[in-house]
Amino acid sequence: AQIKEADQVQSALNTVYTKYKDSKDGKNADYIPALARVDPKIYGIALVTTDGKIYTAGDVKSEVSIQSISKVFTMAKVMEEQGPDAIAKRIGVDATGMRFNSIVAVEFAEKELGGPEINPLVNPGAITATSMVKGKSRDEVWKSILDFHSAFAGRPLSVNEEVFKSEAETNQRNQAIGSLMYAYGFIKDNPGQAVDIYTEQCAISVNAKDLATMAATLANGGKNPVTNKQVMKSQNVPEVLAVMATAGLYDDSGKWLYHTGLPAKSGVGGGLIAVSPGKFGIAVVSPPLDEAGNSVRAQRAITDVSNTLGGNPYAPA
Ligand code: GLU
Repeated sequence: AQIKEADQVQSALNTVYTKYKDSKDGKNADYIPALARVDPKIYGIALVTTDGKIYTAGDVKSEVSIQSISKVFTMAKVMEEQGPDAIAKRIGVDATGMRFNSIVAVEFAEKELGGPEINPLVNPGAITATSMVKGKSRDEVWKSILDFHSAFAGRPLSVNEEVFKSEAETNQRNQAIGSLMYAYGFIKDNPGQAVDIYTEQCAISVNAKDLATMAATLANGGKNPVTNKQVMKSQNVPEVLAVMATAGLYDDSGKWLYHTGLPAKSGVGGGLIAVSPGKFGIAVVSPPLDEAGNSVRAQRAITDVSNTLGGNPYAPA
């Protein structure tokens, strides 16, 4: 499917780049010390169409840690290995209505709802999804997760070791969540390893172009439109997008969907990806976050570009 002419796409990107460049709103995440040190001025926009055209504006070279955006791809990896129902049955596919690292959400699901009633985009579900990735050793599991992310980006990705170390030193809450998920039987063994790999996957380093290519691969039925490689089964893509639509922007997922109609996922590193199925993937990198934990510039820029280009899948053609 085609979107508008090339010059219209480029001009939409240029417009939002200029419009939000001098924004002073939001603040870097600081609960992971290394994230507080990232330059808040980094601001890059990339859009990749399903026919493989790449448009950019601003700084698409600077890298940030992928953080929670990785949860999408690890979920997809588990679906790839075990089918989408493995996620739905073990973790759930419903919004929790609570913070991304909520322990109460797990208690509520366990005690009041009685089962797998969370989702793989909040930490308890994401750490569980990481624990489900197949591999005989830590190295094998890690390599399979990193390779999968790289295939979506279309280049070999690597880890920002400073961010990994910084989060590993300060992730006691995630360790507690891993243990709790093990205690309740969601994680079958070695919760410590699951949290460790989860922390490493969150430190994968990406720029706006990487993220847009990853999003475009989801927009294109799991086939990377730049490398032309089928990186996940097309039949699992709708389930991945559904979970993103439900829970991709923390507590503001409903508001986001209301304004854009786009399945999306944010990360506390300042990245945001959004998918217009059949049309394009778009990503913005800009570290300052709002109260809900979503990049301020990224939300504004993607909303404007998508609405200009007719990206909302719920809108009449
Ligand atoms: N690694 C972060 C955490 O677990 C990811 C949070 C996020 O991007 O939402 O706290």
